[in-house]
Amino acid sequence: MVICTTVSYTGQVSDLSLKISSELIRLDQAFCTTYPLFMGESRPQILGGFRYRKLSLALKQRFGERIQKVTLRGGFGCPNRDGRVGRGGCIFCSEKALLPSCGPAFGPIEDQLEAGLQAVRLHTKANKAIAYFQDQTATDAAPSVLHDLYTRAMNHPDIVALSVGTRPDWIPDEVLSLLSKLTSQKPVFIELGLQSANDTFLKWMNRGHSVADFESAVKRCHQAGLEVIAHVILDLPDETADDRAKTAACLNSLAVEGVKVHNLHVLEHTPLAKLHKKGMFQLSSLLEYAEMVAEFIQMLRVEMIIHRLSGEGPAELMLAPDWGRDKKSILSKIDKTLSASDGWQGKHCE
Ligand code: SF4
Repeated sequence: MVICTTVSYTGQVSDLSLKISSELIRLDQAFCTTYPLFMGESRPQILGGFRYRKLSLALKQRFGERIQKVTLRGGFGCPNRDGRVGRGGCIFCSEKALLPSCGPAFGPIEDQLEAGLQAVRLHTKANKAIAYFQDQTATDAAPSVLHDLYTRAMNHPDIVALSVGTRPDWIPDEVLSLLSKLTSQKPVFIELGLQSANDTFLKWMNRGHSVADFESAVKRCHQAGLEVIAHVILDLPDETADDRAKTAACLNSLAVEGVKVHNLHVLEHTPLAKLHKKGMFQLSSLLEYAEMVAEFIQMLRVEMIIHRLSGEGPAELMLAPDWGRDKKSILSKIDKTLSASDGWQGKHCE
């Protein structure tokens, strides 16, 4: 399984190896990796009849019921905005876009949680959720502050796991140790922005970290018992099919547990918006993006869970592409593109 590398952890949390071993057995049973013919095709059975490993299905298999995410705001900062790493932030990032889509954007975590869970129950069939600290760099606070925020969220009976979004270069040892300890309560996911496994493009995006930083962060997180979800942008201007293959190979070789795939979208008040208004780069069409995603999915290890295949910003901030907020059409186009070539996740994974 994907998280085999974490079994050898011998750090501060003495019972971690035992916990992870039992988790591995459970996951192996749930995601038995066999490749019988599925409805006459050679898709792996573990994809559950789909052409890629869907998050909703993986969560249902793991937790025994439908699970959604509740986005929380911890009031964090970003070292790539205030000069500690860089200034101005990543080229595509809007602080306003990182606000939760429902419930109070600020205020006690308990209030945010209740509002988020209420929305989940109202709009979906789920009763339980993952608490997701998404705003800015969600490891950017003193360990005592983080401990308080994370545990208050995790202690809610309807929260099944914690997820923390951050930069690969912003996980101090104390914070990693804290997250590691929390895995004894509930699973802990860490979402790391990679965007591209090519340093040239990371520089273009003003990411302020390197591919090597990402590789090191994934290894440290795995050793600490965390499950890693990588974020990538597939249609960066001038990236080639070889560049995207390199990104897929990077995720495969590090055995990240999940991936969020995004298209490049232009949000108002970002450095990217200025370049866009000057016509300095070309965005992909929906068809081009669907083809890139279909190709990328087939290069990924079949065990990797696909958390997203598109990314959109709030309507009031979104400048382009014009197809970027139509998630249904994007997913449909990707499905059709995969079907047309009988493609499935892992088919071209070396
Ligand atoms: S994407 Fe993350 S690291 Fe980049 S500016 Fe936004 S919050 Fe900071």
